Amino acid sequence: MSWEIYLGPYFECVRKPVEVTVTRRVCSSPKCANHTPDYAMYVAFCSRCGSAVIAKDEPGTRFNPLSERVSEQLREMYVVHAVAFMVPNVRRDGDCRRSWDADDEERVSLDIGALDVPAERNWLDSAFAAERAILVAECVSVETKWGFHRWWS
Ligand SMILES: [Zn+2]
Repeated sequence: MSWEIYLGPYFECVRKPVEVTVTRRVCSSPKCANHTPDYAMYVAFCSRCGSAVIAKDEPGTRFNPLSERVSEQLREMYVVHAVAFMVPNVRRDGDCRRSWDADDEERVSLDIGALDVPAERNWLDSAFAAERAILVAECVSVETKWGFHRWWS
């Protein structure tokens, strides 16, 4: 686990929600507060009322998994509220992305005024055109953006 820093072009994708059944372990007594707890109870009997703990199916949502090709060629930096931030996972001609392991780097500095942001977005769109087309089909929306990200991985 470490902090990572990324600067460059990326795809911002709104993932498609998929309805699924989520099985939760809850207290069998409808009168007990542990009948709908915020956590799963991995015990046989309820610690609050002593009733048996049962498996209960509830509707939930997950994101549709991305295709294997996209998962290999692009890396999902992180997801926030169904929005996934995708960057290249492989090197291709003209690669202009930058990333740092923030825990290893003592200091990071870069003159970003010298960077050609539109050209870098165009590079991502053309170098990863096939993967972008798959993302467009698999997501609600896909935008090509350029910017700074710091996240814990
Ligand atoms: Zn209970």
